[in-house]
Amino acid sequence: MEPIVALLIGNGGREHALAWKLAQSPLVSKIYVAPGTGGTEAKEPGSKIENANIGVCDFEKLVQFSLEKKVNLAVPGPELPLVQGIETHFRKAGIPCFGPSSLAARMEGSKVFAKDFMHRNNIPTAVYRTFSNYKEAEQFVNTCSFDVVIKADGLAGGKGVIIPKTKHEAASALRDIMLNEEFGSAGKTVVIEELLVGEELSILTFTDGYTCRSLPPAQDHKRAFDGDLGPNTGGMGAYAPAPIATSQLVDQIHSTIIQPTVDGMRREGYPLVGILFTGLMITAQGPRVLEYNVRFGDPETQAVLPLLESDLAEIIVAAFERRLDSVDIIVANKFSCAVVCVAGGYPGSYPKGDPITFSDTPNENIRIFHAGTSFKEGQIVTSGGRVLAVNATGETVESAVKLAYEGVQTVQYKDMSFRKDIAHHALKPSTAFKESLTYE
Ligand code: AMP
Repeated sequence: MEPIVALLIGNGGREHALAWKLAQSPLVSKIYVAPGTGGTEAKEPGSKIENANIGVCDFEKLVQFSLEKKVNLAVPGPELPLVQGIETHFRKAGIPCFGPSSLAARMEGSKVFAKDFMHRNNIPTAVYRTFSNYKEAEQFVNTCSFDVVIKADGLAGGKGVIIPKTKHEAASALRDIMLNEEFGSAGKTVVIEELLVGEELSILTFTDGYTCRSLPPAQDHKRAFDGDLGPNTGGMGAYAPAPIATSQLVDQIHSTIIQPTVDGMRREGYPLVGILFTGLMITAQGPRVLEYNVRFGDPETQAVLPLLESDLAEIIVAAFERRLDSVDIIVANKFSCAVVCVAGGYPGSYPKGDPITFSDTPNENIRIFHAGTSFKEGQIVTSGGRVLAVNATGETVESAVKLAYEGVQTVQYKDMSFRKDIAHHALKPSTAFKESLTYE
């Protein structure tokens, strides 16, 4: 087999983690990251990982660059290029792209599409209605008997889900989304669904359109502040495996949700070759799907990839060749925790350009994945809200969490901020987290 020259598309911690993992593969000779971060910038000539200064939706340039550099594997990270059809551009140029077609990307690009898909395929999810007319939507929230969640249909940069506390707040959210077009055309149609109660869980699954192979179930922390308080963010940290995911529950999720989703997509004519990332609420009545992503999640990827012992490039090649069933995905019998460090003010406005200093990490089980950083005149500086994630693995969830926070102490920049309670669900004294060690 020819050596793999990969192009990762994105500029988050997820892409740094993917580059880090792919770089360990003997099958991979070079990894470009477009546009990348300060962490993926080539620090010396001949580095295996190197940035390419091209935007994630500049498809023409990405393809042209790939042809020039003989890229034979493209891996898009964020949702926007996927929903805008990046896979078609690479496919037409004859370059394998590990991501969904634009038809398959509707599972993430349209909440209405995803909910209707679940309904057609009997996949457990919250009961819902969809509305394109504001008056009808308002009447529904005023008369329905359950607490609701309001979701803009299209991509809204992670801000399109509102959980109103009162009917008044619900009506005001509907006005903002549908009449004041707060999320532009993404809010022309809304999904209104039942508020589910439980613990959340995210499962990242490799699929070749037939076979599914999942990584350890993770839990993200969406709210900005400790105790799950404050505004929603892109994710403040994640850990895996999450104790709530007993082997029995994971089996149930596989047989009633993940496999039927992959089979349904294939049967309906848009098979998924890539990643299915399933966001779930584990309710008293069982697991329910909150959303699908058709890509690696962020920050969950920074937590789960360090647990993967198998060669990531080998898994991806097997998925392309529709023989994922022939590959064993070996996962370390450990725990992993990623703490996201953000810029002061995030998720509101925040400064950029502050120098970041790193003292030597005290332990080889600590890794730093850059997100909002860039490399300027020999110095790493902040350039985004979520600046970086510090990951650590350990034999127990406690040791992984402790080590991750030790790693955080090695990083410094002005007004650095992070949550102090990542993995709090797993650290509850009563939780039998060892149970979660057996999963498919
Ligand atoms: P989504 O983008 O659909 O995953 O929603 C983002 C976040 O909103 C989820 O991670 C949950 O925290 C929350 N959420 C979404 N749908 C519901 C629901 N039906 N009930 C409770 N929380 C929800």
